Formats: sequence, structure tokens, C-alpha cells
Amino acid sequence: MSKHFETKAIRSQTERSQFSEHSTPLYLTSSFVFDDAEDMRSSFAEEKERNLYSRFTNPNTTEFVDKIVDMEGAESGYAFATGMAAIFSSFAALLSAGDHIVSCRSVFGSTHGMFTNYLPKWNIETSYFKVDEVDLVESLIKENTKVLYIETPTNPAVDILDLDRIGKIAKKHNLIFIVDNCFATPYIQQPIKFGADLVIHSATKLIDGQGRVLGGVTVGRKDLLREIYLFARNTGPAMSPFNAWVLSKSLETLSIRVEKHCENALKVAHFLEENENVEFVKYPFLQSHPQYEVAKNQMKLGGNIVAFEIKGGIDAGRKFLDKIKMCSLSANLGDTRTIVTHPSSTTHGRLSEEDRLEVGITNGLVRVSVGLEHADDIISDLKQALEL
Ligand SMILES: *Cc1c(COP(=O)(O)O)cnc(C)c1O
Repeated sequence: MSKHFETKAIRSQTERSQFSEHSTPLYLTSSFVFDDAEDMRSSFAEEKERNLYSRFTNPNTTEFVDKIVDMEGAESGYAFATGMAAIFSSFAALLSAGDHIVSCRSVFGSTHGMFTNYLPKWNIETSYFKVDEVDLVESLIKENTKVLYIETPTNPAVDILDLDRIGKIAKKHNLIFIVDNCFATPYIQQPIKFGADLVIHSATKLIDGQGRVLGGVTVGRKDLLREIYLFARNTGPAMSPFNAWVLSKSLETLSIRVEKHCENALKVAHFLEENENVEFVKYPFLQSHPQYEVAKNQMKLGGNIVAFEIKGGIDAGRKFLDKIKMCSLSANLGDTRTIVTHPSSTTHGRLSEEDRLEVGITNGLVRVSVGLEHADDIISDLKQALEL
């Protein structure tokens, strides 16, 4: 019987131990024992599925990965210490010197840093298209292009890329289509349905959802995951069993948390639309969003990130942060606590204005990661901070 999303998140559990526990225990063990020489030989020869060493697999990481695999409709997966470890390891496992990547320019800052500062050391170059330049994607593809990479919704400008359209381009040119699905979570969007070969998450964000642990995961095609698993097994970016145990528990409440996050985010977006000190608001499920139709087609809900442009640019953005009373000023997102950031004076402050504008970071852009506090309290804090 094929189970629903919520049920899978709760009922996909490791087998009970001899203690008949109801909730999965924490298997805090670095290694596992063998009965005899033959058991050890056949285990290492992979003639049976069993845990050998927690850098390879552990019951807690397996439970977490299996849940995400189920939720994303994937074939296989592997869990990493962080989202960046998942991204780097997936590229490192699949690419060789001389390969080429086509990526949207609006990707997570460290992903862009990896493309610019590290992959070129192995002669792996990246060509970029902007969020509104999907028409150009085919012209960027070269003989040595191996991967087409995107994030949607994007950070921090909350732009939406058309998964179906880009997935078809990847298929036509036989490219590995990789999607960072962190902002949407598998509850809102399942890129594999639109042709993604691999889906990556920073589990640090909405999957944990409570700002406690770091984690990452890559799921998708079995053949690709086999390469990624062997790379990770040899190079060691594994998720810790403790973090996997926390994250697997977090998944049990993912659907209700995300529902509430999105309900609050939509209320915040409507409030901001009416505020006189706000130039414009960007939220995927507002009709004013430039890719509203695409968002509605590929997302179940609009997500918890709302971006808006405050009137008065950089100075107004800084003043706004200073006036915030309840919400947190923090670089994280997807927490129960509402978090506000002003990228052009903080996280992206070292970029030139031209580079910032390229990824949609206008001077007055404020990013709100809407939390689970009462919507009225979030709105009153934003309201008083907007009284410039
Ligand atoms: C945070 C984030 C990452 C990196 O994840 P870490 O767990 O911090 O390493 C990657 N992609 C997106 C979209 C993110 O928001």
C-alpha cells in the first residue's frame, strides 16, 4: 500500500530492537561487530545489506535518508554533515577534470564560492544564466557540459525557476539535472517529478526547523547515488548518528510545521503589500510575483521566505534591523523563530552593487524567514520597525 507523505514521515522506522522501543533509539556507535570471518568477508563484499562502520551507514542515518528518499520519490540517498558537504561531495563524486557545469547565477553563496574558487582548481568551469534568462540555457551547453544546476525558490530574492522547462532541457542534452530543494522542502515540491536526477537539501533549515543541528542529504538516481556513496565512504563527509536521530524526528512534524510556516508567511506578505514604506513584496504565492503561474504549477504552498524592498535603500534597511524587537537577526532560516536579514549590508555586503543586482539583491531588499510565532505578533514587530 502506498502511504501518504505524513504517514511515511512518521511510520518509516528502523526495525525495533530487543527492547521493543516505540521511538527509534539513538545508535551512538562508530562501528558494528561481525559473528565470524565469513560474516565479515560477506559483509565487506556487500553480499548482504548491513552496517559496518558509521562513516558508511548507521541505523539512524539510514532511517533519516530512507524517509527523504520516500518523500522525494527518489531511488536512493546519502546523508552528509552539512548541506555544503552534500553539494560538494555530489559534484566531486560525479565530475572529472575538464567537465563543465551550467548553473543559475542565483545560488546559495557558498555554492557559488565552490564554483568560483575551488572547482576551477580541477579545471571544472561553470557558466551562468540569470533567473530570467532560461532562454539562454541551451546556448551555454557545451560538449563537455555534464551538470545543469539550479535552486528554486532562490535565496534571498525568492525567484522561481521552471523545473519542468529546465528538466526538459537537461534531458534533451543528456545532462545530470541537480536541484537544491532546500527552500521548498519535499513537502512543497518534488523536483524528481519534473525530471531532476538528484535533489539536495540543507537539512539545517526547515527539515530540522528548530535551529539545532547541521545536516545535508542528496537523493535521486540509484546509479549516481552509488558513485556519491563510494566517494563519501572514502572521503568522510558523513552525517553524525546524533544529528540523523534529531532530523528523523523533525521529519515527523515537517508537514504541519511547513503548513503553518506558509500560512504565516502569506499573512506577512499580505501585510507588507499594504505597507507604505514597502516598495514591493516578493512571495511565490502572491499574484504579483513574476513567476506566480510557474510557482503554482510546481509548488504545493509558497514557502516561508518573504522578500521585500524597503523604501530608502541601504540606510533604511540598516535602520529597520535596528528597530526590530522580537524577530531575530541571524544568518539562518527555516527556524520556528522569525528571522530577518538585510543582505546588501550584511551577508552580501562585500559584493559590488553590480554583483548584488545580478542575483536580485537590491539595496533595500529584506529577507524574512517567517517562523511559527503568532502571525499577529510577527506582523506587529515588522510594522513598528517599518515606521521609519
Ligand atoms: C543553507 C543552505 C545551504 C548550505 O547548507 P549548510 O547546511 O549550511 O551547509 C545550501 N543551499 C541552500 C539553499 C541553503 O539555504
